[in-house]
Amino acid sequence: MPSAHQREAPRGQAIAERAARVIPGGVNSSTRYIGEPYAFAAADGAYVTDADGRRYLDYHAAFGAILLGHNHPVVNDAVRNALGGVDLVGLGVTEGEVALAERIADIIPSAESMIATMSGSEATAQAIRLARAVTERDLIIKFQGGFHGWHDAVARNVISAPDKAYGRDPLSRGILAQAIDATLIAEFNDLDSVAALFDEHQDRVAAVILEPIPHNVGALLPTQEFVEGLRTLTRDRGALLIFDEVITGFRHALGGYQQVVGVTPDLTTFGKGMANGYPIGGVAGRRDLMERFNGRTGDVLMAGTFNGNPLACAAALATIDYLQANPGFYTRTHELGARMREGLAALTAELGIEATVAGFGGVFAVYFAKAPVLGYRDLMRNNDKAYVAFHRGMTERGFLMLPMALKRNHVSGSHTAAEIDLTLEAAREVLISLRPLLEG
Ligand code: PLP
Repeated sequence: MPSAHQREAPRGQAIAERAARVIPGGVNSSTRYIGEPYAFAAADGAYVTDADGRRYLDYHAAFGAILLGHNHPVVNDAVRNALGGVDLVGLGVTEGEVALAERIADIIPSAESMIATMSGSEATAQAIRLARAVTERDLIIKFQGGFHGWHDAVARNVISAPDKAYGRDPLSRGILAQAIDATLIAEFNDLDSVAALFDEHQDRVAAVILEPIPHNVGALLPTQEFVEGLRTLTRDRGALLIFDEVITGFRHALGGYQQVVGVTPDLTTFGKGMANGYPIGGVAGRRDLMERFNGRTGDVLMAGTFNGNPLACAAALATIDYLQANPGFYTRTHELGARMREGLAALTAELGIEATVAGFGGVFAVYFAKAPVLGYRDLMRNNDKAYVAFHRGMTERGFLMLPMALKRNHVSGSHTAAEIDLTLEAAREVLISLRPLLEG
């Protein structure tokens, strides 16, 4: 049960004051500051607790990095067992790295071999560099609304304002203009928009990279035709297809979303939930492509002092072992996700609120926009104020949802049906309170 949130926040405030002095913005990643809650002290199962002891039912799940639940005993035990063994040598390999790559090759359709990184951004950077090397081409295509990390090649056109969407919309100052301009922007679920870019930039497109479900803008579900079309188009035009499964991987199915749609990309990137909160990422793919990373016979640099570190590998192996041994995880999170989505759809219908409840598996989002919502163009009809107010209202009631437009929510392996029902009760109150925003 989430706790009541009336108390003063002296400890949180003290931490906030210290943080403001030594960390820019008081947080270590640009979008982590949401006002209250701010400083966290504990996490367990489906709950997180702030520095003043207020408990939240967690749907934020560390941007999706928590899959089984916080401090999952199976993962914690594996990490504890790894402590005191080989820590970091930085030469050769450890057995954990080999076991992890073997496991990935077993379960992910596109994976014949794999490199381990420490984060999803490193994984997409490596995959893009590899695609450029293999094709000897310079451009890549991403979709408006897709996020693939913070590096220069991809840090553009995520949640763009309507006047910036599809145009030149970098996420940051300080990015080389050439890097921004080497990434082209297409519309999700619109194969023609991708074909047009291939036509316009004949023989220059190295790869198309996509989140198979763009969860960085909630949950846009791809049509089967679109994903199959991308596979054919990239193959015909000599470009690679990269599935960025940093969010969808392990969360939606053991074999990733590629297993669900039955379309096999050339390369796949991973991160987030793969190690249930421990820092890891990876690129997997066809052996002939991946061999270009081979330090002796290949020609693509792959480096990283902490790559494949034993604690992260132990956490990833434990997470994947758990998922393999407990396929009920998927039945359960999919059922609970559906219970939430159906409940929210019934509530918005009953209250006469124009909304589209979206999601897949344990992920859910409520767009305050009329269906259909297929691509970013449809998301520009979303009532962002209502979206943020809904998440804010839920968070104030103890149900942690990131109060930013288009951010998704996650049901982990530790949530229960009773908690989904409690969430829906709170959602009714919050939705009713949104009426003035929705009428305006
Ligand atoms: N790819 C996707 C789909 C993501 O959502 C993210 C992070 O949110 C990344 C890549 C980057 O991963 P990381 O934050 O681990 O660098």
